[in-house]
Amino acid sequence: MSYAVVTGSASGIGANVRKRLEAEGFDVIGIDLKNAEVLADLSTKDGRANAISETLEKCDGKIDRLLLAAGLGGHLDDGALVARVNYFGALAVLDGFKDALAASQGRCVVIGSNSAQMRPVDDAPMVISMLDGDEDKTMGIIGDMHAAMVYASTKHALTRAVRRRVPEWGALGIQLNVIAPGPTETPMLQGVKDHPTISKSLDMIPIPQKRFAKVEEIGGTIDFMFSDIAAHMHGSIIYVDGGSDAQVRPDKF
Ligand code: NAD
Repeated sequence: MSYAVVTGSASGIGANVRKRLEAEGFDVIGIDLKNAEVLADLSTKDGRANAISETLEKCDGKIDRLLLAAGLGGHLDDGALVARVNYFGALAVLDGFKDALAASQGRCVVIGSNSAQMRPVDDAPMVISMLDGDEDKTMGIIGDMHAAMVYASTKHALTRAVRRRVPEWGALGIQLNVIAPGPTETPMLQGVKDHPTISKSLDMIPIPQKRFAKVEEIGGTIDFMFSDIAAHMHGSIIYVDGGSDAQVRPDKF
């Protein structure tokens, strides 16, 4: 039996990848707030611990594919909640599944964002405290900030945290990569579009291709990142954003 685990499997990109993995014959264990094999709230320490233990039980301690898709968008009022899910929830699950991935020489894709490098947040206190794994301190820094001020930093820190794991995890036979989508047509993006003010930020994103991604374009790229032909890809950040990152940062990569 080959096991695939997908967080955020009930909606959007996670749901698309879940279907693909099922079609390829994987036994898929979804983790989400609803409509999933493992119901868990990744914003809380207890929820994360339950998600990890229940999943490990269901997959006999072996994970062949792991997609970390669970996340919240920058249109929400509660910036602290977004950091709890997007950074601390994602990393807890990733680290909790390290041994299970090693047991299967598994492949993991983490969903970052092309927004992660569009602002100079490299040395932002919020990013540093996330990378230090200090959830309480991060919450203190975020306070009552809107998620619009937090989202990109969560994805920036998450991407760096993943890449920091690349040497050790690679030696264990685990593949770790990040996909950095631009705006993608999912319920999350619909939430941004429906927001009275945050929706305007979408018009400010330069996209050479002049459109947002279809969910299957992101799901299809993840499928490739999970495939044998991508077996030497490790520690990569794959932008799928219609050219936005190249337009904003043509001389940086
Ligand atoms: P979505 O809202 O359609 O799906 C996200 C899923 O995460 C939902 O099923 C939701 O229930 C789950 N989730 C949220 N909070 C949770 C929690 N506390 N515990 C467990 N599960 C939780 O969103 P999507 O667009 O498919 O987003 C998937 C990932 O892609 C996210 O990490 C998002 O940040 C990232 N992303 C999305 C876009 C975009 O424009 N849609 C762009 C770049 C990156």
